Amino acid sequence: MHQPLSISPRGFLNRCLKSAQILVPQSCVLCSGGSSETALCAPCLAALPRLARERCPVCTLPTLSGEVCGACLRHRPKFDRVDCALVYAFPADTLIQALKYDGNLAVAKVLGAVLKASVADRPDLILAMPLSKQRLRERGFNQALEIAKFVARELDIPIAIDSCRKTRDTPPQTALPWKERAKNVRGAFVCDMNLAGKKVAVVDDVMTTGATLNEFAATLRKSGASEVSGWIAARTLPR
Ligand SMILES: [Zn+2]
Ligand SMILES: [Zn+2]
Repeated sequence: MHQPLSISPRGFLNRCLKSAQILVPQSCVLCSGGSSETALCAPCLAALPRLARERCPVCTLPTLSGEVCGACLRHRPKFDRVDCALVYAFPADTLIQALKYDGNLAVAKVLGAVLKASVADRPDLILAMPLSKQRLRERGFNQALEIAKFVARELDIPIAIDSCRKTRDTPPQTALPWKERAKNVRGAFVCDMNLAGKKVAVVDDVMTTGATLNEFAATLRKSGASEVSGWIAARTLPR
């Protein structure tokens, strides 16, 4: 059983912001104009940077004609494929930061809608990339779960909320050189579910090297998952 989670002041503030957002009609998160029912106006939605159509079907890195990239050929990840629409660059990065750091949970719906439009397959189960207890306490919510709940509801696919955990906090992946990232997350996840024969989609807000998704996918496979896809809102591309 999980211990009840104590919430930090920041987490509490984020929860209050969430309640306020339900009551107040909002303006666009990016341009502050065009009050609408969603967090983003239509022109800003259209301006979000999209991934190239020609990309590796496994990890979504751009390739010449949509073939599997060299890195995935050399070392096949534990996940089968990644579905993603956006590049993690301006203004998609601003949008995701508004969700994560300002607690603007209405953004999760926008990202969920974009993600929903980019997924190719129908899994048996949706999971969110788990956050460590410490990070969850600091933030007050898991941004990946907020996106996942929206997508699961829209697509009418079951979602498992508390079955998998990140057992320790790991330094932010962005602070580490690429080789260190896989080491950083090794053994960081636990999953209590029996996933025998199940096709699972893992929702996350951002993917950079895929090291975190790879490690979580390995954990899900140990629990029996037959297929693991990453459903990612935005992908960081190498410069
Ligand atoms: Zn706008
Ligand atoms: Zn690849």
